[in-house]
Amino acid sequence: MAKQNLTTSCAVAGGGPAGVMLGYLLARAGVDVVVLEKHADFFRDFRGDTIHPSTLQVMYELGILDEFLELPHQEVRELGAQIGDDQVKLADFSHLPTHCKFIAFMPQWDFLNFMAEKGKRYPTFHLHMQAEVDELITDVDRVIGLKAATPQGELEVYADLVVGCDGRHSTVRQLAGLKVDDRGAPMDVLWLRLSKRPGDGSDTLGRIEPGRFFVMIDRGDYWQCAFVIPKGGFNELRRKGLEAFRLAITALNPKLADRVREIASWDDVKLLTVKVDRLKRWYRPGLICIGDAAHAMSPIGGVGINLAIQDAVATANILAVPLREGKVNEDDLAKVQKRRQLPTELTQALQIFIQNRVISNVLTMTTQPKPPLVARLLDKYPWLRRWPARLIGMGFRPEHVETEELSPASARS
Ligand SMILES: Cc1cc2nc3c(=O)[nH]c(=O)nc-3n(C[C@H](O)[C@H](O)[C@H](O)COP(=O)(O)OP(=O)(O)OC[C@H]3O[C@@H](n4cnc5c(N)ncnc54)[C@H](O)[C@@H]3O)c2cc1C
Repeated sequence: MAKQNLTTSCAVAGGGPAGVMLGYLLARAGVDVVVLEKHADFFRDFRGDTIHPSTLQVMYELGILDEFLELPHQEVRELGAQIGDDQVKLADFSHLPTHCKFIAFMPQWDFLNFMAEKGKRYPTFHLHMQAEVDELITDVDRVIGLKAATPQGELEVYADLVVGCDGRHSTVRQLAGLKVDDRGAPMDVLWLRLSKRPGDGSDTLGRIEPGRFFVMIDRGDYWQCAFVIPKGGFNELRRKGLEAFRLAITALNPKLADRVREIASWDDVKLLTVKVDRLKRWYRPGLICIGDAAHAMSPIGGVGINLAIQDAVATANILAVPLREGKVNEDDLAKVQKRRQLPTELTQALQIFIQNRVISNVLTMTTQPKPPLVARLLDKYPWLRRWPARLIGMGFRPEHVETEELSPASARS
């Protein structure tokens, strides 16, 4: 098969939230960018559906929010939990200093398709699907491009900068020899869907029972459910059988008894092996990693997508000009890590604290739990609920779009 060659300013490996958003922002700022995604489309397994207020703020600043919110979504303004027999309110987004005071729940593929379509308005945006990055091209120590396998044969992309946005199992970070600092996680998560029925209500709720932690996210006509298990416990659960798993769900929420048989086989249950890690150094000459490729996040708070997007905004803010001028250097890459390292570390520290102090205890608990003091205070004093909302909805150091739209107006739809 024929070998193809391309030259661009920025080659982005991976078309997830980080890669597609970065591609869009750079193309909008007049930088030539090639995004390579290994899958044929964005329709894949559930990978999180949360679009946080800070991401919605970015879309507002980009002038694409109203159009985005025309897509089907649910708006969640409060988060709560059922702890043993008590129901408590934990977070209230309605006071955030952002344009949207809610988390939007939308399938990730709708978000990615939307951003990719917006990117295609710019002549400098080139998205290649079914292009799996498998090699870096180097010149002495510097990365000068990458190679990808495509149905048409090998594609070589030469670039001033390669950005690894290829997620938690990043090939790019491995090929680049970047060192990973694994922070550990005591749990894994099983994701499944159950239909929503009239009378279910619409609260997005976590349920904590002895040895069990269960979350139900309202997705309109179905519930996206997360069943938390001890790390590596999936085989043990499978050994006990599907019926025992269905009964465990019914015990957590008796209302679901009439539909747990929708879990017809273990194929309906997706295992997320929870990882919390981060790169010590996010870059080397000619290459940088962002999003999950730089720091895999725990699902606590559902902030992985948001962080990936915040990384993309910061990367575009810092690198658009040097990329446009063909002068991107290691100091510029260091600035990106410096900007995003603190928010990443603080978020992970909070997630690890909750994993070790709350989730681990719940998973080994044998008696009915009572809401801890913090949960009782949050439930009692509504104004206190603004703080968790701020941490989840905006995170540490929210980014704002600083890049200008420089692409020709004729490219706009
Ligand atoms: C089951 C599950 C549930 C989750 N729930 C939530 C949630 O509710 N909220 C939340 O915020 N986060 C959630 N997350 C985490 C969230 O999905 C990630 O943090 C976020 O998607 C990171 O974005 P990213 O762009 O860095 O990486 P990814 O989304 O992982 O995107 C990486 C992309 O790179 C592509 N790719 C990989 N290797 C290559 C290669 N060699 N060549 C080309 N392309 C490649 C992949 O196909 C993928 O499209 C969940 C994750 C999982 C797995």
